[in-house]
Amino acid sequence: MIDVKGLSKSFGNHLVLDNIDQHISPGEKVVVIGPSGSGKSTFLRCLNLLEQPTAGTITFDGVVITDPRVDIDAIRRQMGMVFQHFNLFPNMTIRRNITLAPVRTGLMKQEEADAEAAKLLERVGLTEKADSYPAQLSGGQKQRIAIVRALAMKPKLMLFDEPTSALDPEMVGEVLDVMKELAREGMTMVVVTHEMGFAREVGSRVIFMDGGKIVEENEPHAFFAGPKEQRTIDFLSKVL
Ligand code: ADP
Ligand code: MG
Repeated sequence: MIDVKGLSKSFGNHLVLDNIDQHISPGEKVVVIGPSGSGKSTFLRCLNLLEQPTAGTITFDGVVITDPRVDIDAIRRQMGMVFQHFNLFPNMTIRRNITLAPVRTGLMKQEEADAEAAKLLERVGLTEKADSYPAQLSGGQKQRIAIVRALAMKPKLMLFDEPTSALDPEMVGEVLDVMKELAREGMTMVVVTHEMGFAREVGSRVIFMDGGKIVEENEPHAFFAGPKEQRTIDFLSKVL
C-alpha cells in the first residue's frame, strides 16, 4: 500500500529523517515508537505530504505521490489522520465536523453525509452529541469524533500521531477501543504511540525510531521479547 524509498527530511541543516526505507502492506498495523524528537511525527507527516520530503520517493496505492505533478489533495483524502490535539473545528457542531469534508470534496451529498455521520456516531456511542460543539465534549469523546471524522472520508489508510497522549488516563481506553475495532475490521494503520500494550496487542509490526532512522523493527512478540539494538533496549527499559 505504501512504499517509501530513501526518504530524508531536513529542516534547514537539521537532518530529521535519514534515508528511510519502508514497505507497508494492505491491512498492516504498524506501530511506531521512539524517543521524543526521533522523527516519528515527521515520518507520519511525510507519508501524507503534510511535510515535503527533502529526498526520496513515496508510492501510495501504485501512485508516486512525491511526483510534483500529483494532486496532493486527492491523495490526502485517501489517508485519514488523527492528531494528539484532536483538531476539531471549534465553531461547528459535531455533525458538521464529520460531514464537512465529504460534502466539500463532492464525495457525498449533504443528506448522504448526515446519514453516514449518524452511523459513525452510533458506532462510537456518541449519537446524542451530534448537535453539540467540541468544547462540550471530554477529551476522549473529542478524539473518538476525530477518528470517525477521518473515517467519513472512507480512507484507505489511517495515520495516528499519539492519539491518546493528551488524554486523561481514564479516557485512553475508550479511544484505544475504537482503534482496536478499526484494526479488527482490517484497516491499514500507522500508529505513533507510547501505549506498549496496544503495540503488543494490535501491532502487526513495531518500528523503533531514533535519530531519524529506523533502528529496529519486528513483529511485536519478538520485538518486546528480544530487542537486538542497544538503543532499543535502553528505550524499552525506560518505557516498560
Ligand atoms: P517526534 O515526533 O519523534 O517527537 P518530530 O518528528 O516531531 O519528532 O521532530 C523531529 C525533529 O525535527 C525534532 O528535533 C524537531 O524539533 C524537528 N522539527 C520538527 N518539525 C519541525 C519544523 N517544522 N521546523 C523545524 N524543525 C522541526
Ligand atoms: Mg511527535
